[in-house]
Amino acid sequence: MEKIKLSKEIKNKKVILLDMDDTIYEYKPCHDFALEKVYEIYKKKRKSISYNSFLLKYENAKKEVKKLTKNQGASHSRFLYFQYMLENESKKTIFSETHLLSKIYWDSFIKKMTLNKWVIPFLKNCKKNHKKVVIVTDLTSEVQFRKIIKLGIKNYIDFIVTSEEAGIEKPSNIIFKLALSKIGEKEKAAIIIGDSYSKDKSSHIRSIILKDKIVVV
Ligand SMILES: [Mg+2]
Repeated sequence: MEKIKLSKEIKNKKVILLDMDDTIYEYKPCHDFALEKVYEIYKKKRKSISYNSFLLKYENAKKEVKKLTKNQGASHSRFLYFQYMLENESKKTIFSETHLLSKIYWDSFIKKMTLNKWVIPFLKNCKKNHKKVVIVTDLTSEVQFRKIIKLGIKNYIDFIVTSEEAGIEKPSNIIFKLALSKIGEKEKAAIIIGDSYSKDKSSHIRSIILKDKIVVV
């Protein structure tokens, strides 16, 4: 695997536009754990349902929500996924259970999260060198705030921009521009760090993609 030395890559940049999911922590173990916890509660009322049928219902609801909320932060809303999953099953809105399943999902997800090893040394390095760090992330704000608080990095982050507040998802220039306007800096002062070749990119800002790389600070 290729090794990447972040401090060298960002040397001449004043602003770091940092992705969150699958960049500073690993998403899949948290998501899998959270869905299993949701299933444990969900199956109590439906004795015979298998995990696979539950997953299928979840995936179908997710597809429906994504179709309605294309390119918006709400397209990731677990609350909406569970709402649709239960509506499809009951042919009406199931208020309390929707709220409960969404709460269990995020409480479990956040409990399971751990920060990647390079992140704190990297953020300390940014602070020491007076660089500004803006989290630029798809998804809804409340959840992303909870993740940052749980990961213990809030004191290193200057701003956050979510696709919920920007009204559009990455890689739209709108979301990166909003991040830069909060700092009062131009595109050439910034660099994007993320995990996705299709999301963490902008026509005017250089990107560093960490996927499948060994990160050192
Ligand atoms: Mg990501």
